[in-house]
Amino acid sequence: MRFFIGLLLFSLVLSASTGMAQGSLFEPFDCRAEVEIINRIEKEKQQRELAIRDSINKAEGLIALQKREELNKILEYSQNGWMHWSTVDNFTFGKNRGGLPMITDLTALHPYFRDKVARLIFLCKQKGIELEIVETFRTHAKQDEYKSMGKKYTRSGAGKSKHQYGLAVDLVPIVNGEPEWHNKALWKKIGLIGEQLGLRWGGRWRYLYDPGHFEWTGGLSVYDLAQGKLPYIPKQELNYPCIEDDLHLLSRYWEQWETEQASYATNNP
Ligand SMILES: [Zn+2]
Repeated sequence: MRFFIGLLLFSLVLSASTGMAQGSLFEPFDCRAEVEIINRIEKEKQQRELAIRDSINKAEGLIALQKREELNKILEYSQNGWMHWSTVDNFTFGKNRGGLPMITDLTALHPYFRDKVARLIFLCKQKGIELEIVETFRTHAKQDEYKSMGKKYTRSGAGKSKHQYGLAVDLVPIVNGEPEWHNKALWKKIGLIGEQLGLRWGGRWRYLYDPGHFEWTGGLSVYDLAQGKLPYIPKQELNYPCIEDDLHLLSRYWEQWETEQASYATNNP
């Protein structure tokens, strides 16, 4: 009897303990809380992504707007670029140079020559010589004006000067704020620097000694240039990938300046 009671108690304890174990193992799992958390995380992620996308769109919109404005500026410049070229009036450098203004903009020059001139100005500055640009590109009308002013100005008529092809520049050193036209030693220093850059220097010319004048034609004569030929840039130079386009635009500006100054010359005989 004692044995049976003991067995009964034992089985009761066993069933109770296993029952407890079964209760914790198979109790129905409430996943709602977890789903809620997942949903919330997902929602936040989406909101973050939307915010990022929104700010990217805004930034892109802003960039697009800036780009369009820049493009408009470039377009405006390419339409009327010639109007933006810097000029100086007669007597700016203390000499009578006629009624038509002189174009002093470096961008009015053939790009390869322009960079040589910029280098010349830079190298002179390094040696303490301050150069001012007197004239870069010169129209046929302006050339004719010089011709009409007498032999000490030029012996070349319209189309005969390298200035008409953007391949010549006139410079003057400035000493104590004044143009120094008659300092031969100073001219020589400048001339030698220009020659080292491969430029032809007017200070070598016996007739019409022209020390402020530098030119480069890549071996072409004025006759070649008048025929519409343009000098080749040396092959080792890689800085001019768009030279054809640049020259095309430049020619258009030169033509616009021709029209402008030709009409001025007609109206102010
Ligand atoms: Zn010149």
